Amino acid sequence: MGVIVVTGIPGVGKTTVMKRAAEGLDMEFVTFGTVMIDTAKEMGLVKDRDEMRKLTLEQQKELQIRSAEKVASMGNVILDTHCTVKTPKGYMPGLPEWILKKLKPTAIVVVEADPDEIYNRRAKDATRNRDPDSIEQIAEHQQINRAAAMAYATLTGATVKIVYNHDDAIDEAVKQAEPVVK
Ligand code: ATP
Ligand code: AMP
Ligand code: MG
Repeated sequence: MGVIVVTGIPGVGKTTVMKRAAEGLDMEFVTFGTVMIDTAKEMGLVKDRDEMRKLTLEQQKELQIRSAEKVASMGNVILDTHCTVKTPKGYMPGLPEWILKKLKPTAIVVVEADPDEIYNRRAKDATRNRDPDSIEQIAEHQQINRAAAMAYATLTGATVKIVYNHDDAIDEAVKQAEPVVK
């Protein structure tokens, strides 16, 4: 099985949906952001996962590479991460070529929802410090992520599956993801 990458813009529900889809499987569920924040703390950079995308690009790239090396040694993994990360300097690729070479994903899941659904989820979720994007900016980020996912697919041969996670339809989203992870 190797590495199956799961992506989606912040607040779309990828951790919620894919943790469920991974239940009972012989694959470890790993959130790349958790590996990165542990690495960032070791390096004394930041303490909150939502502060990492504001670090310099060089620091983020260093964290990305070190974290990918840790994940590459883990075997069969469902990796919860981002196609692109919205930084003050623009969209940073979450899986540039040198990271893809380490991870070698066989499939890329892109979790999506309607922009207004994502807007409302971000507003309601007090556990995180997500960016206050407008509905138009959320739509743009989802478009960029589809383009990024297919670019990663052309570099690796991975398939790309779009999973729709509409409001209160988590079971339906899990069903859409199952053929990819099983
Ligand atoms: P991040 O990239 O920032 O980690 P994420 O994509 O992992 O975000 P989650 O943390 O899984 O997003 O979900 C964001 C919020 O949306 C949570 O409060 C979660 O309970 C809620 N949520 C997820 N899916 C649905 C759904 N289908 N209907 C309603 N609420 C949902
Ligand atoms: P998450 O918990 O998925 O929101 O991840 C927390 C943070 O980790 C994100 O906001 C990014 O700063 C960082 N991150 C996660 N995946 C990647 C990636 N592939 N490349 C760069 N940064 C990432
Ligand atoms: Mg998450």
